[in-house]
Amino acid sequence: MQIKDVRPEPFTSQIRCDRCGLVAENGESEFYEMTSINAKAGYGSIFGDGNNVQVDLCQHCLKMTLGPWLRVTDPTEQDARLRQRLSLFDPAQHGGEFPSRAD
Ligand SMILES: [Zn+2]
Repeated sequence: MQIKDVRPEPFTSQIRCDRCGLVAENGESEFYEMTSINAKAGYGSIFGDGNNVQVDLCQHCLKMTLGPWLRVTDPTEQDARLRQRLSLFDPAQHGGEFPSRAD
């Protein structure tokens, strides 16, 4: 028999932008638009082998700092392209393989 109980779990209640200091509370739209980068530097990294590289940015600072290099796409267009490509799939012709450009 399993006896259930309830225990509190940690959660992120706020995120502070490391660039501008904007504090977003969990539940606000700005909170969900924050971008957190958490990378582990590897051998030969300019950040030092094995070091953690972290930053939290609000959407405004993300655009200000990385804007020219961000790839902003509409996921509904990607879904439509994927559906269009999948419609080309014919199991009888492709034998269970995904169609290639040659098909
Ligand atoms: Zn910011």
